[in-house]
Amino acid sequence: MKDRIIQNRSQASIIEELNDIRDKVPGFTGTISDLGGPTANMYRLGCADPKAERNCRRPSCVFPKICDKLNTDHRHTIDLYRKARQVEGIKKVLIASGVRYDLAIESPEYVKELVTHHVGGYLKIAPEHTEKNTLDLMMKPGMGAYDRFKALFEKYSKEAGKKQYLIPYFIAAHPGCTDEDMVQLACWLKENDFECDQVQNFYPSPMCNATAMYHSETNPLKKVRYKKRETLTVAKGERQRRLHKALLRYHDPANWPLIREALVTMGKGHLIGNGPKCLVPTEDSVAKTGHQRRSGRHGTQRFATKHPKQPDIRQPKTHKPKTHKEAGSKANRRDKRS
Ligand code: SF4
Repeated sequence: MKDRIIQNRSQASIIEELNDIRDKVPGFTGTISDLGGPTANMYRLGCADPKAERNCRRPSCVFPKICDKLNTDHRHTIDLYRKARQVEGIKKVLIASGVRYDLAIESPEYVKELVTHHVGGYLKIAPEHTEKNTLDLMMKPGMGAYDRFKALFEKYSKEAGKKQYLIPYFIAAHPGCTDEDMVQLACWLKENDFECDQVQNFYPSPMCNATAMYHSETNPLKKVRYKKRETLTVAKGERQRRLHKALLRYHDPANWPLIREALVTMGKGHLIGNGPKCLVPTEDSVAKTGHQRRSGRHGTQRFATKHPKQPDIRQPKTHKPKTHKEAGSKANRRDKRS
């Protein structure tokens, strides 16, 4: 995808590549692990009005809302999925990630096709955040779209008789994201029983709006005038970045002292305690240092979120999914890993 223009290969070219993979990849098992790339469900979508497209100055066709002129017909994607499934020697075609769920909900038929035939138990999607002001800076849809997609995902999974889970990805310390936003995100994770195993902090990278926000501490999506600009809070210091990351892992005892300290400073002491709405307990049970845990390299990892009731995606398939009870306390689980 370049700017607002999505580059599409022909269906024949994609099918030809599937044939090639089948015939030329040694040890090919018949499973295509991810068909679709970064924009799984934007195949053949685009502006329906060429004149408007030529003159258009909007930075996005899908934000702040889906443009009326955007063709959101998922028929080509559905057709591609069906053709791919028919290729001889291909047993399974999966879509692992990259689904634009705000567009997907425009086509329940697409969600049904996806959920019934192309999810291998888990589907990663990227709400990135839960708070509107941060989502606006990311030009991402609000959580209402996530909730509607989740409802369709669960409905069609049930109809297909499959136990499947959504894995939402989030990012910490995005420019514009305040401590308050991160606390709200952590509360959402807690409320929805999600535990993030591997988390990522935002790092500036070339050619993206967020990098301009990070360095200028200004919102480039709004008009910038001399001495008149919308300034942004940017988590840059070591402690604040550590706090944002820690809040994504609110369940990790090693993060509790830092979170407690921040909650007290923010006047949110009511989130400390043992009640169901509290983020961290009053006292550490089994606190471990970062070095004792296997949380991996700082900031560069894939973001894996796990619902405590979900089977652990890192376990070999032969393992029986653990229930929360079987898995024992969270602290015990961490003991076993270290
Ligand atoms: S008019 Fe709408 S659909 Fe067309 S390019 Fe602009 S924002 Fe995208």
